[in-house]
Amino acid sequence: MENIYDLVIIGSGPAGVSAALTARHRGKSALIVATSPEDSALWKAEHVDNYPGFHNAAGAEIVTALVKHAEASGVEFMRGRALAAADMGGVFGVSVGADFVQGRSLVLACGLNRAKPFPGEAEYLGRGVSYCATCDGMLYRGRRVAVVGLSAEAPEEAEYLRQIGCEVEYFDSDRARKYAVKGAERVTALTAGGVDYACECVFIFRAGLDPAALMPGLATGGGHILVGADMSASIPGIYAAGDVAGAPYQAAKAVGEGCVAGLAACKYVESKIKEEK
Ligand SMILES: Cc1cc2nc3c(=O)[nH]c(=O)nc-3n(C[C@H](O)[C@H](O)[C@H](O)COP(=O)(O)OP(=O)(O)OC[C@H]3O[C@@H](n4cnc5c(N)ncnc54)[C@H](O)[C@@H]3O)c2cc1C
Repeated sequence: MENIYDLVIIGSGPAGVSAALTARHRGKSALIVATSPEDSALWKAEHVDNYPGFHNAAGAEIVTALVKHAEASGVEFMRGRALAAADMGGVFGVSVGADFVQGRSLVLACGLNRAKPFPGEAEYLGRGVSYCATCDGMLYRGRRVAVVGLSAEAPEEAEYLRQIGCEVEYFDSDRARKYAVKGAERVTALTAGGVDYACECVFIFRAGLDPAALMPGLATGGGHILVGADMSASIPGIYAAGDVAGAPYQAAKAVGEGCVAGLAACKYVESKIKEEK
């Protein structure tokens, strides 16, 4: 049987690391699925002076220390973008690019999703809009594709598409700020800064993903996942912590919530194991 982790945690920012560390200290296995550490909001903070224990530190320094601490505590990491999660009856499955991982509980610590979908993006999802080079790249070998790169991993993903033979045109926030996807039955073009680039697929790489799209059926409000006092979300076994669970958007608050979510997830897993016996 494939490995089933006690906790699968999405996000390696302060909230995700804190949840994972808490789980390890309760003797539970924990897998963090995350894109690059550079995609944590905290990485972008030049000076942080209100995070206990770090006086006038760069955000990147704090994120690096958090990730190192988790690694030293036996937290496992998988680098990649979680694309979808599903309740499979007692176990949660998470698609990470072309891979698949399973957890008895799920902690969503994926930060604030500041991005609005581009016009046409949702409409053409699966019909020429893709979030995954590994999953869909081969379908477009020898064809023109556009890559909108808005995450740290995007240049690497574009390079992969080139290597397998796609004709790649790369766009990022330096090149255009306004994008739209155009098509008929399927995608026919990406509009970037008012200019159309004809292509058969638009790969969009953002750090975050709308939590409602990640886990359909999860109660959300105002762009946040709705949680109870123990950070439990509306689906039993799922917890949320940090910016994704609401303001104030502060690293110390994210760490605190990660701890609460981690403890609650451990309790949930223990009760499930008892039930199974
Ligand atoms: C410029 C700036 C300055 C700031 N300054 C301060 C400050 O001085 N003090 C302070 O306390 N706070 C500050 N903040 C806020 C602080 O950075 C956030 O509150 C904190 O990082 C929230 O932690 P988090 O773990 O919830 O989310 P994040 O740190 O944003 O981490 C989210 C994680 O989720 C991952 N992720 C998201 N979606 C997916 C997916 N689908 N698949 C895989 N991985 C995914 C990302 O890769 C990342 O690892 C600042 C933020 C910014 C932007």
